[in-house]
Amino acid sequence: MQSNVQFSSGEFVPLEMHKVRVVQKLNLLPVEERLKAIEGAGFNTFLLQNRDVFLDMLTDSGTNAMSDQQVASMAVADDAYAGSASYSRLYEAIVEVFGTEYFLPVHQGRAAEHIISQVFVGKDGVVPMNFHFTTTKAHIELAGGRIAELFTDEALKIKSDFPFKGNMDIAKVEALIAARGKENVPYIRMEAGTNLIGGQPFSIANMREVRRVCDKYGLLLVLDISLLNENVYFIKMREKEFQDADIKTIVRTMCDLADIIYFSARKISCSRGGGIATKSRELYLKMRELVPLFEGFLTYGGMSVREIEAMAVGLRESLDMDMISQSPMFIKYLVDNLDAAGVPVVTPAGGLGAHLDAKAFLSHVPQLDYPAGALGAALFIVSGIRGMERGTISMDRDEDGHDVPSEVELLRLAMPRRVFTLSQVKYVEDRVKWLYQNRELIGGLEFYDEPKVLRFFVGRLQPKSDWPQKLVARFRRDFPAGR
Ligand SMILES: *Cc1c(COP(=O)(O)O)cnc(C)c1O
Repeated sequence: MQSNVQFSSGEFVPLEMHKVRVVQKLNLLPVEERLKAIEGAGFNTFLLQNRDVFLDMLTDSGTNAMSDQQVASMAVADDAYAGSASYSRLYEAIVEVFGTEYFLPVHQGRAAEHIISQVFVGKDGVVPMNFHFTTTKAHIELAGGRIAELFTDEALKIKSDFPFKGNMDIAKVEALIAARGKENVPYIRMEAGTNLIGGQPFSIANMREVRRVCDKYGLLLVLDISLLNENVYFIKMREKEFQDADIKTIVRTMCDLADIIYFSARKISCSRGGGIATKSRELYLKMRELVPLFEGFLTYGGMSVREIEAMAVGLRESLDMDMISQSPMFIKYLVDNLDAAGVPVVTPAGGLGAHLDAKAFLSHVPQLDYPAGALGAALFIVSGIRGMERGTISMDRDEDGHDVPSEVELLRLAMPRRVFTLSQVKYVEDRVKWLYQNRELIGGLEFYDEPKVLRFFVGRLQPKSDWPQKLVARFRRDFPAGR
């Protein structure tokens, strides 16, 4: 693959197409203090204090860098309960970018899921989807329904060169409708830039087939566009029909295929907030009454006017290839270099972050000793980098109190948009490679304080041996004076 700007060496170098004019100082604690910090956090990266973290790769939600235009727009926001000019500017941006006439603002992505689920998912409703997202599943179940993940055989393969792991398996969709009856399928949901399988895209060709199935049975197609930018970027890079298309054409092609689109603006527009958009007045009216009930009046939906202004500008900026390519190119740089060094990592590189395969990385740590959690703690100790466990700790116990081994055991290193420099990414690469060479030192974890629900957020663990001390000693041997 070529860089966005060609280098005479032919080397792949993702060049930043922005400059940094506001900076935030980072702390890189000595390794001994990093060990104390992760002990204090119960070996759970969610419980670390940000001041102890060097590179925060926990999530891309609400942590992206705003542009100067976004920051400037927040200074001219128009505060009003009803009819604010800020809202009018957001509405114009929505129509311009997505081509949808009707819009409902909400306070963040999950609020959109709440409203859509309450309106459309009845008791016994089954929602087919390419893959679930945590809050999506919770809201569909809260409304009395269930989800059915109908992904292709490629989706969960760690090592793959399949370009569209986010595709739906059309035969499985047809089979589900036949088995359940179309009256029990409230809608089909597709998620752009499929989050939990590593930010992997679907193709327009696949979405067209899903649309065909929807038309055949009279079903709605709901599109989660929280990670739209990355999916659009991959379509341009990987789907031949669109290699010369401009970004707006691809965005419109996707949105035109859906009946309802919704998003988390914490991701898609580097701001805060969220929204639901549709071309159908009938669908809009069905959802509208829940917005004042749960979110706020129809011209703010629980958001501040400053967020609304930044969202409007951020959505327009997301039509710029230089903007949307930055994060996937950095991820590709990191993933390809780790892969070439033999470090087990999910391939092909996706759009959200790099995902280390902890099962292979720590093949000597049994899955019920939480390898992905242990890898996250170990990486923090040797680097100050904060990742997120996406494995067995993220699964809650079953009704009998048994651990449920996760299908995949990943450590996610999210790449917030435009936040890091390439030398910081090189630092991540260096420390992960060093840790891989010293992986035999890393041992397992066990809970000593375990909540029943969503234990990964606030649960506390301890190492099953003195492996963290051994890791610190090895680090000091190799980096005698360094941090
Ligand atoms: C983050 C996310 C959501 C939820 O959005 P929030 O703003 O965090 O509530 C929903 N769907 C996808 C695909 C996401 O990535």
